[in-house]
Amino acid sequence: MIAFALHGGAGAKAGRDYGVEIAHMRGLAKIARHNLQNGATALDVVTETVRALEDSGLYVAGKGASPNAAGVYELDASLMNGADQRAGSVAALEGFKNPIDVARAVMERTPHVMLAGSGARDFGLSHGFETVGDDYFTRAGAFESNYPPGTLAHGTVGCVCLDSHGHLAAGTSTAGVFGKLPGRVGDTPVIGAGTWADGNAAVSCTGQGEYFLRVQAAAQAAFRFGAGQIPEQASDQVLAQMADMGGEGGLIMVTRTGEVLTPFRSAGMKRAWFRGDGDIVSEAF
Ligand code: ASP
Repeated sequence: MIAFALHGGAGAKAGRDYGVEIAHMRGLAKIARHNLQNGATALDVVTETVRALEDSGLYVAGKGASPNAAGVYELDASLMNGADQRAGSVAALEGFKNPIDVARAVMERTPHVMLAGSGARDFGLSHGFETVGDDYFTRAGAFESNYPPGTLAHGTVGCVCLDSHGHLAAGTSTAGVFGKLPGRVGDTPVIGAGTWADGNAAVSCTGQGEYFLRVQAAAQAAFRFGAGQIPEQASDQVLAQMADMGGEGGLIMVTRTGEVLTPFRSAGMKRAWFRGDGDIVSEAF
């Protein structure tokens, strides 16, 4: 059994047409299915899918990033390999085209899990990752959104999958919330909060990171499932905790048995998924 889900963020606004994003997400799901059917690992499919989401400029990650309140593009990304629970992440990273690739290198080429700020940048430079200037980013507008600063308006991309070898992986990448304070780090690069994968489940979250951090959403959903809850209950109860605090957002989750969950407590969440040979499903609301 293979299973796959991706998201383009829970910042979807009611009434907006997400036809372009839906078509793009479906295309990526199709490529992922082909690769998974041909034995690709979950870790590679997650990395490649998140990289493509970053490159598209359609979501608030990678090319589509929004700047912080000081006009600086600080990006966060992380990924985790379920089979051995290795993980890598970067926080407040400036100047790179693909934060997810730098996060993977943190996992594979250092004894660490997380690098932040100037240290993350120095690491990316010394490993030859592609750099970009501010003109690369298409979204100048922290405040182009209808949300005033401080409302934690946001967007993110993420991917989870189960490969044909029975292994799970998860990855997430974002520019964070619009108009965030310099140095602000959300849930996305925090292993356990925005991203988690173990032998039971892979989870990628999207939403107001401050709330996802406070309930350790991604790991909590996997632990609940690992402890015997059905996946619907595991994921819903985590989102309920987050929503009860006043937060909004959603998550995607794939289990070791190939179940796919895409619950959200927000106006919408752009997403696409499939199980086995089943149809690719895509929705924004
Ligand atoms: N969770 C992300 C953050 O708070 C934003 C998002 O998912 O849209 O940085």
